[in-house]
Amino acid sequence: MSDIVPAKNPPMLQVADAQAIVRQYVRPLPPEPMPLTSAALGHVLAADVVSDLDMPPYHKAMMDGYAVRCADLPSGKGTLRVIEEIPAGQVPRRTVEAGQASRIMTGAPIPPGADAVILIERTRLSENGCVEIEDRPPKPGQNILPQGAEMKCGDTVLPTGTVLRPQEFGVLATVGRTTVLAHPSPRVAILSTGDELVEPDQRPQGGQIRNSNGALLVALVSRAGGTPRYLGIARDDPACLRPMICDGLKAPVLLLSGGVSAGKLDLVPSMLREAGVVAHFHKVEMKPGKPVFFGTYPRPGGGGEPALVFGLPGNPVSVLACFELFVRPVLRRLRGHADPGPHYISAVLTEDFAYRTDRPTYHPAHLEWTPAGWRVRPVPWIGSADLRALTQANALVLFPPGDHRHRAGQVFETLSLE
Ligand code: AMP
Ligand code: MG
Repeated sequence: MSDIVPAKNPPMLQVADAQAIVRQYVRPLPPEPMPLTSAALGHVLAADVVSDLDMPPYHKAMMDGYAVRCADLPSGKGTLRVIEEIPAGQVPRRTVEAGQASRIMTGAPIPPGADAVILIERTRLSENGCVEIEDRPPKPGQNILPQGAEMKCGDTVLPTGTVLRPQEFGVLATVGRTTVLAHPSPRVAILSTGDELVEPDQRPQGGQIRNSNGALLVALVSRAGGTPRYLGIARDDPACLRPMICDGLKAPVLLLSGGVSAGKLDLVPSMLREAGVVAHFHKVEMKPGKPVFFGTYPRPGGGGEPALVFGLPGNPVSVLACFELFVRPVLRRLRGHADPGPHYISAVLTEDFAYRTDRPTYHPAHLEWTPAGWRVRPVPWIGSADLRALTQANALVLFPPGDHRHRAGQVFETLSLE
């Protein structure tokens, strides 16, 4: 009998530790002036936005009615002489004196002298140019929005880090901004590798399959706010990979799929190193996606941020899982989000689920919000090549390693894909 004990493999990197490594290398992209077209939606401000005016710019009528002096209507009832009509967009010309009122429209400036607006519904215009009022006693300021109540000239109305949503677009318009300083969309180069791949418009011949990862990654990148640049298919051949990798390294982010496992033709890690990429990890304790590679490419001459390079395993569900766990947070951080995620949702399993796995597993699942909280149901799935299962899924549920009979009612961390 041999007393040779097989050397224990060093423990594999955990997902959270791998994410922490990636985070160290990511800074928000340098901000750029950005016109406020719909393309700016979802971008993150890189400078405070300050108001150039008071809002409202004058004491403003909030209702249609009559601008009055409260002192004239101690009981709420009275008859006042109408001296002027003030539509929105006009400046009052007359001061409201004792016994007088001005007809006023919503949005118009309150005339000097008046301190309340009586609703039109509580009044009746008589033929002699007077208005009869029958209301509760008015309070000073009633139906008036004071000048500067919403914002004052010089206020920071949108601080650095604000995400531009429709309401922020409206505020920017209010303060006269048609351009902002924001972090741009990261350009992301996408390279599929594999001798077996043909493009989707081709019919695969013997031993071939269509390149699904190209389309998948273009869509994942677009949805995550990146600008995809699809480079095509590289053959498992250094002469083909070399120039395509070189091209891809011009972008701030390069995503490759395939060629990162232990096979003889898995050339991606060695070709990346040859191109000058510094490897930070290769293999993470997860399923699918274990062979994932991450490295950075320092810019020749030292100028600018290094390119971030991910070698994603070729199976499409591995691509998707690695994208959600590692790449999406990178794109969010490059776009200036303070909190790049990913964010897990604790959800209750809807049915018993027996599952055996040797690594923490991100299993395709259906996640749903119910009146009783989040519910998750794993969908049938035959493994990392089975992208079709993802069409029935909107989430990945995280199952621990081991041979388990998970019970309905147990809580699991879940990653939404939407
Ligand atoms: P690899 O990581 O290159 O060993 O590939 C793992 C598995 O993923 C193999 O079965 C490949 O055929 C498959 N695969 C690799 N690249 C793609 C791709 N772009 N689209 C679909 N399947 C792929
Ligand atoms: Mg391959």
